[in-house]
Amino acid sequence: MHQRAILWFRNDLRLHDNVALCEAIQKSHHVYLVYCFDPRDYAETAIGLPKTGPYRAKFLLESLQALKDNLQAIGSDLIIRQGIPEHVIPQLAKEIKVQAVFASKEVVCEEMESALEKKLASEGIALSLVWQSTLLHVDDIPWPIRNVPDVFSQFRKEAEGVTPVREMANKPCCLPPLDMEAGSLPSLEDLGLETARQDERAVLPYKGGETAALQRLQQYLWDHDCLKAYKETRDGLLGADYSSKFSAWLANGSLSPRMIYREVKRYEQERTKNRSTYWLIFELLWRDYFRFVAKKYGNKLLQPEGLKDKPVDQCNDEGSFKRWKNAETGVPFIDANMRELNATGFLSNRGRQNVASFLIKDLRVNWTWGALYFESLLIDHDVSSNWGNWSYIAGVGNDPRENRYFNIMSQAKRYDPRGEYVRYWIPELSDLPGKKIHYPTALPAAELAATGISIGKDYPKPMVDFQKWLY
Ligand code: FAD
Repeated sequence: MHQRAILWFRNDLRLHDNVALCEAIQKSHHVYLVYCFDPRDYAETAIGLPKTGPYRAKFLLESLQALKDNLQAIGSDLIIRQGIPEHVIPQLAKEIKVQAVFASKEVVCEEMESALEKKLASEGIALSLVWQSTLLHVDDIPWPIRNVPDVFSQFRKEAEGVTPVREMANKPCCLPPLDMEAGSLPSLEDLGLETARQDERAVLPYKGGETAALQRLQQYLWDHDCLKAYKETRDGLLGADYSSKFSAWLANGSLSPRMIYREVKRYEQERTKNRSTYWLIFELLWRDYFRFVAKKYGNKLLQPEGLKDKPVDQCNDEGSFKRWKNAETGVPFIDANMRELNATGFLSNRGRQNVASFLIKDLRVNWTWGALYFESLLIDHDVSSNWGNWSYIAGVGNDPRENRYFNIMSQAKRYDPRGEYVRYWIPELSDLPGKKIHYPTALPAAELAATGISIGKDYPKPMVDFQKWLY
């Protein structure tokens, strides 16, 4: 039993089902709860944008405020520090004379974690890292990490059924009071960021934190009863309930995947069990899978050649990249999705697939630029899921199919058959009737003139030839 220990919160910003927190409490008399803002998370990336942009930073600040409130409610508080964790944590550990540090293990932080471990060990302090971000525990899957299959369906078939989902950890009900200065949360400005806009067109008025996460879980499953139709609605583009919207809370750990699992099982017993209820778990397995793959391949995931070490054919035209990110491609379905991302920090899965494919396959721009752009903008950014999905679409990740290609016109007509999504985000085209909104330049000149819309003036001319999608 330790006299004193630190629990270092990372992407596990919750009290429910927090194994690292429970272990720290069980094994020590007094636990100091710490969060550290790492300046590297706010630094500029190769495309000149902050790694963490305002949408996610605001969501994180709200999540930390909620954690602080919830810790205060059970008697303790959250210590806030800024600086490189490998320096700050050992310094604090020495200052408050702890014998151990507990934290969750991350999948792509090996170097940082071993540097921290070494530093702490040199002071005689133990570091205990606990795996807890996935639904299936890494020690329970049927393979050592180096042998995790490179194809998702094989992973799923072999893991499903034989790998148990572990019981949730108990939520602590009281903690001793903090006997030192807690420190306060920085503002967005302190982090070098602009204010995050709150756009009323967003799918949800996102609010960070465990309390809001559990409310969304209650709302989606129980109050709105959406789970029973998830498989049919999940490819939607408009509104709060076509999909769960759990991703942002899952990404910073305000919500545990096992909590979702437990609620889905309860829903299956009390309401309905069908292919939709199964499918939400199926999607959580995709999330797990990308984490295991990231652990298996490490930094390779972030390289343009990807997991396959495959040279990619690209032209890296900065002008094309700029038009893509500024939603000025002249392809309404792409621009509508990019406008949503830029205005809200969120994008549907269908939208993400289309804009990623368009950038890589139609504009032939380096997929890592797109991944970095998503990393900065997304409220739910998660290294494994973002880079795993981008490399998949680029054909250098886990997709067993060679040359998967999204025909943007077919996608637009299938998933936005009446053009409502495009009309919502590009109101200047709203006079174009029905699905004709997807291909404005195909309208006969007289019909286009009658709408008063001038392509090239009111809306950009297309930067690709639509004919290739119309076979
Ligand atoms: P739902 O459809 O309700 O799914 C439930 C949960 O399952 C999600 O919250 C998510 O945790 C998981 N999930 C669903 N689809 C996927 C998937 N394809 N890969 C991994 N997990 C999945 N997801 C992120 O959480 N963070 C990212 O940074 C991210 N980047 C992406 C980049 C690209 C290019 C693409 C194509 C997908 C990306 N995704 C990412 C996956 C997916 O688009 C989002 O998880 C999903 O849109 C979030 O909405 P939701 O919570 O309503 O999902």
